[in-house]
Amino acid sequence: MQIAVIGAGVAGLAAAYDLLAAGHEVTLYEAKDHVGGLAAGFKDARWEWPLEKFYHHLFKSDAAIIQLVAELGFSDRLFFPRPTTSVMHNGRIVPFDSPWRWITFPGFNLLDVARFGLVSAYLRFSKPWRRLEQFTADAWLRRWYGDKIYETTWRPLLIGKFGPYYQEVNMAWMWARLHVRSPQLGYFVGGFQAFVDRLAEAVQQRGGVIHLQTAVQSIKVVENGRLALTIPAGEVCYDRVLATTSPGLLSRLAPDLPADYLGQLLNLQSMGAVVLTLALQRPLLPDRLTYWLNIPASSPHKSQNSVPFLALVEHTNYISPAHYGGDHIVYCGDYVTPEHPYFQMSHAEIEALFTGALTHFNPEFKPNWVRQSWLAREKYAQPVPLLNHSAHIPTIRTPLPGLYFASMSQVYPWDRGTNYAVEIGRRAARLMLKEREA
Ligand SMILES: Cc1cc2nc3c(=O)[nH]c(=O)nc-3n(C[C@H](O)[C@H](O)[C@H](O)COP(=O)(O)OP(=O)(O)OC[C@H]3O[C@@H](n4cnc5c(N)ncnc54)[C@H](O)[C@@H]3O)c2cc1C
Repeated sequence: MQIAVIGAGVAGLAAAYDLLAAGHEVTLYEAKDHVGGLAAGFKDARWEWPLEKFYHHLFKSDAAIIQLVAELGFSDRLFFPRPTTSVMHNGRIVPFDSPWRWITFPGFNLLDVARFGLVSAYLRFSKPWRRLEQFTADAWLRRWYGDKIYETTWRPLLIGKFGPYYQEVNMAWMWARLHVRSPQLGYFVGGFQAFVDRLAEAVQQRGGVIHLQTAVQSIKVVENGRLALTIPAGEVCYDRVLATTSPGLLSRLAPDLPADYLGQLLNLQSMGAVVLTLALQRPLLPDRLTYWLNIPASSPHKSQNSVPFLALVEHTNYISPAHYGGDHIVYCGDYVTPEHPYFQMSHAEIEALFTGALTHFNPEFKPNWVRQSWLAREKYAQPVPLLNHSAHIPTIRTPLPGLYFASMSQVYPWDRGTNYAVEIGRRAARLMLKEREA
């Protein structure tokens, strides 16, 4: 078969890798000038390693990507440090990432610790997600953890991640996070870009062709059951097409899809991501320890919170600053709706707003600590799973013969991530191969 893959992110590359192994001709079309999609990195001239535009790490439980890394002969480049995750509590940075730290958490008394441990253990060691998706995370967490624990820990996190949707997200999403995540966090020598480059290289070694800066503009059914893609150079025809774009974009690319399927695509909600990366001349967090700091959000409007972003990630408390020319790398990240003003504000405005809050974490911080900054924004960054989401997921095989779709919105109940991009990319490839045989 002649197969086109739209998007050379992790899902598209993983699918292409398998389709090529089965002997098919595969061409990837990528709108950007680089592969890797949301997991791609960039590199300052002073740095040894590229850095992700959006902070990234793996979990020990990320079996699909760990397996692919092994197949690529890249396992010796993947390592799992155990950095510290903390929360802001009453203006203090408090580690909150192990049972011992829950016991000593100043916001909990002994009864709270017992309740927190029991409910968390239930979520960690059981698999009730199909039942849980019938409840909102807001209602379930409040009921079982109680008002105090919910208000201290989970509600701020839900607001931070889902803004105006925080009371609508279903509990299976939260279960999936608590069920599989490990305290050890995986990273690649050379960053995620090194992994993505290795995967793209393997795709090309198998005969795959990758066209960068080639956005697909439409997908149409043509005679003899083939599919025509419009690209800047004209029209190209394929036997099969796999789209790995956002659901909204697929609905615009392929208006011939039946109304039911288009409706499903358009009903999926998602949040965008805005991440400011700072190269600082000094470490920011005074504990010199915390990699990931969750910041309690009380307003879904984000810019109205005292700290106008959700997470402060001091990457160089996880990966040595030696790989970044001695720079101390700090990400200030937030999830907002695609209509939020953060998508219209200039880089300078976001930088002024976000860095203006850094004295909350270190009173000595001065703007002149910032050597350089970068702003990354993406409107489709975090799917929002509403009640009974499993009944609303578009199928990988679309009703348009020959057209397949694999996106972050379909990896449910798991939270999107590169592991699940590998998993769904390979699942889509298997389906395409199986249907070819049938
Ligand atoms: C802030 C943030 C933090 C994250 N943190 C982590 C983490 O810690 N660990 C982790 O594993 N994952 C993390 N992720 C998620 C992870 O990056 C994604 O789940 C994964 O990269 C998705 O891969 P994908 O191939 O499905 O989609 P994408 O990476 O979105 O790939 C789709 C590709 O399609 C291309 N495209 C779009 N339109 C067209 C068109 N018309 N024609 C051609 N090409 C097109 C895009 O340019 C893109 O390259 C994070 C994501 C964000 C936003």
